Amino acid sequence: MSLSKSPTHIVVFGRPGSGKSSLAERLCQERGFKLIRTGELLRAAVRRDDYLGRRVSDHLANGTLVPDRLILELLVDSLQAPGSERLLFDGFPRTVGQIPLLAQFERDLGFHIECYLDIHVSRAEAESRMTGRRVCPVCGATYHVKADPPRVPEHCDHDHARLEGRKDDRLEVVRVRQDLYDQHTQPIVDHYRTHAPDRFVVVEGDNSPSPDFIYAETVRKLHFDQLGATS
Ligand code: ADP
Repeated sequence: MSLSKSPTHIVVFGRPGSGKSSLAERLCQERGFKLIRTGELLRAAVRRDDYLGRRVSDHLANGTLVPDRLILELLVDSLQAPGSERLLFDGFPRTVGQIPLLAQFERDLGFHIECYLDIHVSRAEAESRMTGRRVCPVCGATYHVKADPPRVPEHCDHDHARLEGRKDDRLEVVRVRQDLYDQHTQPIVDHYRTHAPDRFVVVEGDNSPSPDFIYAETVRKLHFDQLGATS
């Protein structure tokens, strides 16, 4: 469904490979949302090497989920009452146990999530997108074996170097990340679809011609006008 007016506060969901993060960044740049990205906040804590950072660093290094109580600690420290700022959450909630944490923040800080946005991509499509990514080790140009192939298979158009896959795009690693999503995050998406159907918006990512198309579809469904203002 689409909303009747543009939302002030949004949570965005999408499996790894869905393009969710780029879309979230673009919504923030073009529509003035403040991005609350737990992955980024956690990495910053690790870089600062503070008390929280030291307790989450192993989870980040291994790709396992940080326990809910530490996510609570992180957000209590980082989230302030938004005032007139419009928030866009990317990466939170990530487990069913974090659903009540978000509700608690809404009550305590006085904001209301008006949209749960699901950038829906099938697992097969996401895996194919991720494992098909290639990068040139010499000039950094990026390709995709199906969606954006080089002229000569597996070789860079600019310097003919042999292209490489990223370490975290190997099929075993990709499958672990997809499993985590299926196990922990899909149930949250299902929860909001059932419990907040009037605030739940799906944008179909499979068979979409481009990220621009998905962005335009999101803007339309979220009822933003085409010029950048909100209705
Ligand atoms: P990715 O999409 O690769 O998982 P993120 O930047 O979203 O990247 O998150 C990086 C890491 O931070 C995750 O692998 C996980 O360890 C941790 N993380 C981020 N957000 C959460 C959260 N809400 N709950 C638990 N762990 C989280």
